[in-house]
This record gives sequence, structure tokens and C-alpha cells, in this order.
Amino acid sequence: WAKQQKSHYYQFYRTDMPVVSSDEIVLETWLRYALERQEFEVYYQPQKQLKSGKIIGAEALIRWCHPEQGYISPSQFIPLAEETGLIVPIGEWILRTVCQQARVWQQGGLPSIRIAVNLSSVQFNQPHLTRTIAQVLSETELAPNCLELELTETALMQDTETAVRVLKELKALGLCIAIDDFGTGYSSLSYLKQLPIDMLKIDNCFVRGVTADTKNIAILTAVIQMAHDLELSVIAEGVETPHELDFLIANDCDMVQGNFVSPPLAEPDMQKLLRSQ
Ligand code: C2E
Ligand code: MG
Ligand code: MG
Ligand code: MG
Repeated sequence: WAKQQKSHYYQFYRTDMPVVSSDEIVLETWLRYALERQEFEVYYQPQKQLKSGKIIGAEALIRWCHPEQGYISPSQFIPLAEETGLIVPIGEWILRTVCQQARVWQQGGLPSIRIAVNLSSVQFNQPHLTRTIAQVLSETELAPNCLELELTETALMQDTETAVRVLKELKALGLCIAIDDFGTGYSSLSYLKQLPIDMLKIDNCFVRGVTADTKNIAILTAVIQMAHDLELSVIAEGVETPHELDFLIANDCDMVQGNFVSPPLAEPDMQKLLRSQ
């Protein structure tokens, strides 16, 4: 798509910028305006509890529909939003939107679920993070235990002492903390002893084709066992087939999320799903 934008290229060029691709410059400019132009939307991917068969949670995933370019993947723009600091206002918008939405569902009599919000390391390192979250919860009147934060190992390992302190503050608010993409980051297992966390999210890559892949079988069963011994819940993400699901049920995984259960849903569809439950 950058090629189609060539005519706009020069107006975005800044001499103080390091060498970056024109794609990135164009994307950054669009990103700066996306919030005020209301181009973002939150999708919700249901999370199913295996022992009850019920949807008890959902992960909030940002979606960006650019008026001319159409859908742009978060894997493409989140890293840029982090680099530019735009992730802070964008992240706050997501948090507020999600908390408001969860409250609206509850007030509409729908079963109460817990919504997981991805938090980037840049947000995690903001000095006012706890205060901002407390403020959003009180504005929206959402019970703190309906909100979960997903952090990656890499975000937590940058400065473990600070991470412990901030996580304790967040836990004191009553939030739930999950480690996202567990097993893929740069980390040491000793943080599992130190950090006050509630849940491990096993990354897609260990779930993929688990029934045929003996190494993934070993990793999945060991992680589930370890999580339970540490009194943590465990959710597998990216479940795509009935075989993967059966394996996770047989091996006592607590929850699953993935296209086999449901793809991420726009709000009206998520509401329908909750209503049918
Ligand atoms: P993540 O947090 O690990 O999110 C899971 C990703 O897996 C999502 O991609 C989801 O759509 C995708 N997924 C769900 N089910 C399946 C499946 O069955 N198979 C496969 N192959 N994929 C599945 P998405 O929405 O493109 O998001 C990508 C990443 O972007 C997220 O990874 C997260 O790191 C980041 N992200 C998304 N939304 C937000 C947000 O609101 N804030 C922040 N800070 N990061 C976000
Ligand atoms: Mg996530
Ligand atoms: Mg993940
Ligand atoms: Mg992942």
C-alpha cells in the first residue's frame, strides 16, 4: 500500500528522523490521527472455561480500519505505537472503552465476564499506570475483578524490582494479571516465584498441532502441571482444531481461546454470544 501513497510521501518527510522506511512514516502519520478520527474498534475474543463449557472471559483486541487502506493489523501498528509513545493514549482509550462496555453488558443483564486487556511494556512503565486504571474503573463503575491485564514476560523482565512493585499495586486494586505468550519471551522462570500473577497464557506456537508434535506435547503438559503446582490458572491461546481442544481437556487446561472456540467478535456479536449463554 505504500506505493499508492507515494504522492503523499514528501509531506510526511522529516529531516530529524532516523532512516526509516517511507511505509513507517506514512503509517505513523495515520496513527497520529486515528484516535481522533475514531478509526479504532475493540473486538472481543471469547475465552471458554473447560470444566463448565462456559464463556467466562474475553480478550480485547484492537482493530484499525483506515478509511482508504482498510484493515491494518495490530502486529503492524502496535510496535510503531510503542516506539512513538502513541500507545499510551491509544491504550487508555482501549481500557476505557472495554470497561464501559463490560459495565453496559452487566447492566443489560448479561452474564458477567472478565475482560483481558493487552498492556504494552511502554504502558506498564508509565508512572501513573495504577492511578489511571483506578480512575477508569471508578468512572465506569466496573468491578476490578472483571478486568484482567495481559503482560508479556519481556515487559516484566526489563526491571523486575519495579515490576513486582507495580504488579502489587495493580493486584491491590483487585485486578487479575496474566502472562501473555508464555514461553516465548526472554525471561527466567524465577520470576514466577517473585511476581504476583494469576494466570499463564500458553502461546499459540506450543498449541499448534500439539497432538502430532511430541515436543509440544511435552511443553504443554509440563506448563499446565507447573502452573497448577504454582496455583496459577492456565489458558491456551490459538486453539484451532478439535484435536488441540481434546488434548487440552484431557490434560486439565483451565481455559481455551482461539478460532476453534470463536474468532474475535465485534461488540454486537459478542453481545449475542453472551445473551445466548
Ligand atoms: P496477543 O495478545 O497474543 O493476541 C492473540 C492474537 O492471536 C490476536 O491477534 C488474535 O486475533 C490471534 N488469534 C486468536 N485466535 C487465533 C487462532 O486460533 N489462530 C491464530 N493463528 N491466531 C489467533 P491480533 O488481534 O492480530 O493481535 C496481535 C497482537 O497485537 C496481540 O497478540 C497483542 O500483542 C497485540 N495487540 C492486539 N490488541 C492490542 C491492544 O489493545 N493493546 C496492545 N498493547 N496490544 C495489542
Ligand atoms: Mg494477548
Ligand atoms: Mg498472546
Ligand atoms: Mg501470541
